[in-house]
Amino acid sequence: MTVTQETLQEALQKYFGFDAFKGNQEAIIHNLLDREDTFVIMPTGGGKSMCYQLPALMLEGTAIVISPLIALMKNQVDSIRGYSQSDDVAHFLNSSLTKAQMKLVKQAINDGLTKLLYIAPETLTKDENIEFFRTVNVSFIAVDEAHCISEWGHDFRPEYRRIRSMLDGIGQDVPIIALTATATPKVQSDILKNLGLRSEHAFVSSFNRENLYYEVRPKGKPEQAMRQIIQVIKSLSGQSGIIYVQSRKAAEDIAKVLQVNDIKASPYHAGLDAKTRTKAQDDFLMEEVDVIVATIAFGMGIDKPDVRFVIHYDMPKSIENYYQETGRAGRDGLEGRCIAFYSYKDMLKLEKFLRDKPVAEREMGSQLMQEVMAYAETTACRRQFLLHYFGEDYDHENCCLCDNCRYPKEKIEVTQEMQHALRVVDELDENFTIKTLLDFVQGTETKEIKDYSFNKKPSFGIGKHHDVNFWESVYRHALLQDLLYKDVESYGLLKLSEKGRDYLKKTYPIQIPLNHDYEKEHVDTSEDVGRTAVLDEILVGLLKDLRRREAKRHNVPPFVIFQDPSLEDMATQYPISMDDMTHISGVSRGKAIRYGKAFIELIKKYVEENEIDRPTDFVVKQVANKSKIKVNIIQNIDRKSPLEDIAESNDLTMDELLEELYAIVLSGTKVNIDYYLDDTMDEAIRDDIYEYFLHSETDDDKVAYKALKDDDITMDEILMVRIKFLSELAN
Ligand SMILES: [Zn+2]
Repeated sequence: MTVTQETLQEALQKYFGFDAFKGNQEAIIHNLLDREDTFVIMPTGGGKSMCYQLPALMLEGTAIVISPLIALMKNQVDSIRGYSQSDDVAHFLNSSLTKAQMKLVKQAINDGLTKLLYIAPETLTKDENIEFFRTVNVSFIAVDEAHCISEWGHDFRPEYRRIRSMLDGIGQDVPIIALTATATPKVQSDILKNLGLRSEHAFVSSFNRENLYYEVRPKGKPEQAMRQIIQVIKSLSGQSGIIYVQSRKAAEDIAKVLQVNDIKASPYHAGLDAKTRTKAQDDFLMEEVDVIVATIAFGMGIDKPDVRFVIHYDMPKSIENYYQETGRAGRDGLEGRCIAFYSYKDMLKLEKFLRDKPVAEREMGSQLMQEVMAYAETTACRRQFLLHYFGEDYDHENCCLCDNCRYPKEKIEVTQEMQHALRVVDELDENFTIKTLLDFVQGTETKEIKDYSFNKKPSFGIGKHHDVNFWESVYRHALLQDLLYKDVESYGLLKLSEKGRDYLKKTYPIQIPLNHDYEKEHVDTSEDVGRTAVLDEILVGLLKDLRRREAKRHNVPPFVIFQDPSLEDMATQYPISMDDMTHISGVSRGKAIRYGKAFIELIKKYVEENEIDRPTDFVVKQVANKSKIKVNIIQNIDRKSPLEDIAESNDLTMDELLEELYAIVLSGTKVNIDYYLDDTMDEAIRDDIYEYFLHSETDDDKVAYKALKDDDITMDEILMVRIKFLSELAN
């Protein structure tokens, strides 16, 4: 079928009411209508489905659309039906249908009413269905989410591998259109090969998302990352965003912390029942909820145009995942912030999960993670890195929308080192991964190196005088500059390009930025969060003076008022209201009211006089973290159970129980163990210990024991009275 530009425009207007095509759409549709195999690589949001929907409506017969997700088929069918007068225009065929429903679908196809049939690959394999399609007038076959064919894609589905043989079974000579939103050169080559596409009519759209800002921050401690996340969300208050995590528990925990910090958030993961998941999704779309904290299970088929930020609390397992997930931000073309929290230790943990997998899968998984690490640690433009990963050139000096371009690192000049790095690739016959090359250059005698007797080579250890980060930077830069490349067939092995060979003949200086070394770099260096919470030593001094005065006034020892860690937390958080004060560690509401007023006043005055920019205008509230055991202990004490019984039922020794109790009173909770002391301890001894603590400078148990042991007082007695004492006076 040959169509003119006019008829195509008319068809677009007629069937969908649009005036103009986007990007490559028109060329792609022409190609398909000319009965050519067509390969479409287009990022999400580029208008991929139009490429097969419009020709399907225009052509005689039924187009078969192979799609991996049964859950999404209904949506796709509904959306097409929305443009038509008859429901029969589109159907789906999958395991969710009854026999009778399937029969009706097949009838509609036979009657020539159905233009698009969505089908899952496992339905297509069934003999009866293949038989059926042999008799049908098929217009063309569309393979959606074609990257599912490749083990190197982010969503491998084995049944996709069988598509070619199914199509052969149907035995119709019709064109195939394969579509994907993500494809590295390796995945592309897998798709072409596996589907046996007849020509190489590939239409590749740019993967550059100009409106996305990319940033990677060192993760540090979980609380530090959490604080930054809340800061970002508060600065975009009321806007939609997604936080990606690796585990269900993290999804639950983080959603809870956000909720107690007055952020409308919901968890989303595969462990939730279907109803809860649907509700979370709907709430997000309807803006009842601003933030979804999700494992990767979230996002397929979610098309919310105004997602303003995507945060990776955990790094994803591959660059493809990262690109897909960050790609959900800013679909409307307005800015989307993509912030990832990187921790080398997290990556090692992820790699450990691969251990039980078959060798091939393990190696692949580890390769993909290496790329994620390289992305996190690069100081080159992140946009350039991502696009290069997808085989696309990006030549701009500065993209202005990534952290590395905004805050460039100083570059160093290399000539001889680059030459060494490339020569080593050549010397090892272009047969090794970056890891082996680094070992070789550094002179590390690994088993592999010895097995190949590489340690006998003259240039073994040629780069000893620089550290591994330096050489990793050199190799990574050589890849980015196309002096080296990774072969598609033998993925991961570094090869010399033409340009690289030329370089060996004629060298020239190259400027390279050294990779981030997050272990050394201070956590929180980025400008937006530059106001890191640090301990204010001067304020600690002032607070300690105040504590001394207050202790005198209340006639109690200073440690009863506030313990040192609480003062330090105050000198970090600068609480200036009663509410702020209750969020200081070890300060309960009761304690804040009892002793806090003078401290708040002092801090307020101090902040004003010194014009202190408080680290945050909010305080990150923690979810009340009382372990099950603590709760059980408190409940049992309320019931006046003997301490021995409480210890036994919680599988604790008496010492451990007393330690738990001490922690409970220190965290600001009152417990009354008088009922137990009345039964077990001489009143005079109890008073002696109480009196001792009242005049002691410290609540240290060993100091107390030293002072009291001559009176035949035991450690247990001291520990018990200390609990009573702190509970009564401090809380
Ligand atoms: Zn950049």
